[in-house]
Formats: sequence, C-alpha cells, structure tokens
Amino acid sequence: MAERKYRKLKTATHLNRLMNWYYATRGPVSRLKPLAWVTSGAPVEILEAMGVATVYPENYGALCSAQRVATDLCQVAEAAGYAVDVCSYARAHVGAVLDRRRAPLGGLPKPDLLVACNNICGTVLKWYQALAQHYRVPLFLLDAPYIHGARLEPHAVQYVAAQLEEFIAWVTRYTGRQLNQKKFTQVLARSNEAVTLWREIRELCTARPSPLNAPDLFVAMAPIVVLRGTRAAVSYYRKLKEEVEERVAQGVGAVPDERYRLLWDNIAIWYRLYRLFGYFVEYGACFVVDTYTNAWSLNVDLGDPVEGLARTYASVFINQSIQARAEVMADMVHRFQVDGMVLHSNRSCKPYSLGQYELRRIVGERTGVPGLIIEADMCDTRVYAEEPIKTRIQAFMETLMGSGR
Ligand code: SF4
Repeated sequence: MAERKYRKLKTATHLNRLMNWYYATRGPVSRLKPLAWVTSGAPVEILEAMGVATVYPENYGALCSAQRVATDLCQVAEAAGYAVDVCSYARAHVGAVLDRRRAPLGGLPKPDLLVACNNICGTVLKWYQALAQHYRVPLFLLDAPYIHGARLEPHAVQYVAAQLEEFIAWVTRYTGRQLNQKKFTQVLARSNEAVTLWREIRELCTARPSPLNAPDLFVAMAPIVVLRGTRAAVSYYRKLKEEVEERVAQGVGAVPDERYRLLWDNIAIWYRLYRLFGYFVEYGACFVVDTYTNAWSLNVDLGDPVEGLARTYASVFINQSIQARAEVMADMVHRFQVDGMVLHSNRSCKPYSLGQYELRRIVGERTGVPGLIIEADMCDTRVYAEEPIKTRIQAFMETLMGSGR
C-alpha cells in the first residue's frame, strides 16, 4: 500500500521552507541570543515581545521521532539512568543533549534560559530541572492549577497572572530586556491572528468531504506551536486557509471518496504518521477533527493582556477534567458529523491518556459513536506493535461498515 493515498497540500512547500528556516536559525551554534528553551504550553508571547528567541524541545522530540531516531536517543537517556516510563519526548531530547553526535541537526543550541509550564503535565518540571542542572542556566516554573470543575476560577486566573508579572521581571533580570507595551500588543495581535486562522482552517473540515485529514493537521500545526506571535506564522496560515477554502469550494476531499469521518484523540504517532492513517484511508476514512491540534485554538483577551494570557494558558485541553474534555469531544462529534473515534493510549503522555476509557464511555453514551483505543507511543517504537494494531483497525472499520453508518 502506498504510504500516502490522500492529496498533498500545495502549501507543504511553504511549510517545509518555514520549518527549515526555523531550525537553521536554531542550529548548534545559534546566533539568536538570548535563547530560551520552552515547553509547548509556555506563554511565548512575552518572550517574543521581549526579544528572547525560543526553541521547543517537545517539537524537537517529534522531529526525532519522525526521523526514526527517537528510540535510539531514548536509550541513551535510559543508559544515563532515566526510567523507561518517563515521557519519550523528554528521553529523546535528553538523549540528544547527552549524545549530540546522534542528534538530528546536531542537537539544539545551548539555552540561556529555561521556561516550563505545568499546564500540560508534571513531567516538564523534572525534565527542565534536569536541564537546568546540566546547563547551569536559570529556570522559571509557571504553575497553572488543574481545572477540576466546569470552569477556571477567578482566583486561579489571578494566581497565574501574578506569576506572569514575576516572569516578566525574571526575564528582565537575566537578559536586561524590558517588556515594551507596544511590541507586546503587536505580538499578541499576531498570536491571535494565527490562532484564529488555525481555528478557522480546522473548522473548514466540517465540510463534506473534509479538505484535510489528521496527518495534514499534525504537520501543519508546527508553526502555531513554535512561531506563535510572529509574522511568519500568520503568513503561512493565511496561505493554508486559502488553499483549504479552495478545496472546500471545489468539493475536493483530503481522502478520495470519503465514506467515514473519524475523530483522533491524543498526540500523533510520529514515526508511523502516514502509514497508520493510510490503513484508515483504505476504508475511505478521514480524520476530520482531533483533540491535539485543537489545543492551540484559544485566543488571548487583549483587554488585560497579562490576565488574558493567564486565562488562555491555564485553560489548555489536558489541564481540564475528564468531564470538560468529554464535552469538547461530544461537541466535535456533532459539529464535524463524526462516525467513530480513535483514541491513542499514549504510554508516554499519562495526563492525556489516563481516563480515555471513561472518555470513550461518556462520549459514546452522549453521541452513540463507537470508539477504538490503540496502545502505542508517540516516539518510542518499542511500544508499537504493527500487526495487532492493524487487526484492531480492521475490526473497528468492519464494525462501522456493518453498523450501516
Ligand atoms: S508527558 Fe505528555 S504533555 Fe508532558 S511533555 Fe510528555 S507528551 Fe508532553
């Protein structure tokens, strides 16, 4: 079977150029100074506005996985004492730090600052503490309280906002850079524009046939993660939106002869991206929506930028209760006319994966849509069993076909 049966986007060339430029400017000897290593849920708009360059070890972990070197790098970290149960983004990245010769692109340039926010998980705290000890550079930990109830409480917003004020002072202390309000407003406006475009692009997949499939979204999400707040991200998403609108207007689907519309939950399995989704394409199944790329869809309220950032970054999807996540997923099922869900039980990402059986039950009861759970890992190939996964996909798709959907 061909590894990619669906249609390639014309804007893929623009994206490749953009990401090549991004990593070329963040080579082992970077001229971008000061440079901060940040987690995917860190309030990067503040750093961008203060003239601090950023790089994302998680995105680098995904790159290592896509290049199929992550498992080797994980083993380097394991040999240094990191447990096999630690997130494979962390292990792959630490492996790249410890053995640069095996690291794609020669590894990431040495950081001047480290910034971690626990709105995605607690792993990043220990991971970044280890990096701070290794490089002997300052680390800022931003604590975003988990949202247990139905909404983010005002005192939690105040708590995070107060830390953001401290964060601004901390960046000034270590870099000498001040936060210029005009630049800050400009960066936030660009961040909001890119996020809005990204949300609109994803919403275009409510069309039948869907103009995009999950692998398109997983690849196209890179700039919204690593270049939020920049002109480059806005320009790319404008072009992508034009192309997606054109597909919708012409009735062109990402998957030829779309028959089934699916929802994906959790991080992509990067080293099997095209092959795995190819199994579904054989049945005419397209992943029209997913919870992962949805995570970068929240705008910042510009009325009070610091409080707006606090609200946005404390509200990310996996910082919320199972009930709240079930609501988001049930809404996706209705709006995108989904026939089935596939939940990747990702051994690495405990906060994303714990509760998925409960999620499948709740969303299934509310919508009548069945769900398949597949066990794997986003980077560590040792956890991926090709044949059992294929068999489960086949059985799931045959059930969908038999149900008359
Ligand atoms: S545990 Fe999950 S959220 Fe945390 S760094 Fe790993 S993949 Fe990201």
